[in-house]
Amino acid sequence: MNTLILNDLLKQYEQKRLIHLRDAENRKKELYMSNPKLEKLDEQLSNISINTAKEILKNNSKESLENLKQRIESLKKEKEKILNSINIPKDYLSVKYDCSICKDTGYIFENGKSIMCNCLKQKLYNLEYNQKNINNIDNQTFNNFNVNLFSDKVDESKYNSPISPRENIIDIKKAAENFILNFENSDTKNLIFTGGTGLGKTFISNCIVNELIKQGKTVMYQTAPVMLDNLISDLFAKPENQTGISNSLLTANLLVIDDLGTETMNSMKFTELYKIINTRLLSQNNNPLKTIISTNLDLKGLFNTYDERLVSRFIGYYDIYRFYGDDIRLKK
Ligand SMILES: [Zn+2]
Repeated sequence: MNTLILNDLLKQYEQKRLIHLRDAENRKKELYMSNPKLEKLDEQLSNISINTAKEILKNNSKESLENLKQRIESLKKEKEKILNSINIPKDYLSVKYDCSICKDTGYIFENGKSIMCNCLKQKLYNLEYNQKNINNIDNQTFNNFNVNLFSDKVDESKYNSPISPRENIIDIKKAAENFILNFENSDTKNLIFTGGTGLGKTFISNCIVNELIKQGKTVMYQTAPVMLDNLISDLFAKPENQTGISNSLLTANLLVIDDLGTETMNSMKFTELYKIINTRLLSQNNNPLKTIISTNLDLKGLFNTYDERLVSRFIGYYDIYRFYGDDIRLKK
């Protein structure tokens, strides 16, 4: 991991955290200004909390503790009433963090240890690895995916299928949505998208990437040639120059390998590719990791290009979807 990138990110986190805290503080000030009664209520509430704490420490009077609780409740209700009357949501004054899990600190506590939050991990992945492979994909969502770009004409001799390209792409879209829905399920298979360029393979996998990142999953996105070159150069790099890409490829919740089959293969790259595919399958049970591969090769092409060990993994643990139709990039 590049510590310069990490330090830079942590500075950004600190900044946005402060901005969010300040924004919340400003909202409060404004609200108090137009509704002094609210400030009074909050003051009373915080005083009571202090008294409650004291009371608990002394622990000599159950009755007064009960009284304090009741007063807190009634003050809270009064506050809620005022907020309601001026149409302000209950959480208006709470701090709005970008990531509610780590409150924009980048770290969370788990089992007594401080570990990196997925939001920070994903930012590191994007800066260190993913940017080499994808540009901005924010707009690539299922809502923006137009199935009407695909022909609804069945042409068995042309497409080698009894259903139209449109029906086929609708099926694939459904499969992609199910993949997201059942992502945590260890029975959910990985995905292979096969077919020529311009048929939506990359678009659909980007839709999945977007959705899973939104859900707080970590995603590594790699084209096969870049991924394999980076893996090999990391293997030979001095320890201080290593990027740790191998570990990220083995642990990201989702790995997308784009353009498999366009790399120049050699035995060393094959070993690395097999290791990535196989190790990710082995970790299915306790922490399901998923992989999406897109390739121009069909099943026969995969057989001809890769070792049987790898192809048997594909057949056993991946659902294979074939994209067909006419190049949709020409229709946009
Ligand atoms: Zn976070």
